Amino acid sequence: MTSNEPRCIQCNRTDAEVPLIVLRSQGAEAWICPQHLPLLIHKPQTLVGKMPGAENLSAGEHD
Ligand SMILES: [Zn+2]
Repeated sequence: MTSNEPRCIQCNRTDAEVPLIVLRSQGAEAWICPQHLPLLIHKPQTLVGKMPGAENLSAGEHD
């Protein structure tokens, strides 16, 4: 596995498989696919440990 190959932080698919959205956080880059973008918005705690700064996010309030 190539360490610097962009992969979705949730499903590990590469940009050869799905479009990826780049995230910049704490000087680092992470990628997420559109299918998992809602996790970042609604369940950011799911991504703690997978992207820098996820622990600083709070879930969007749409209830
Ligand atoms: Zn994904």
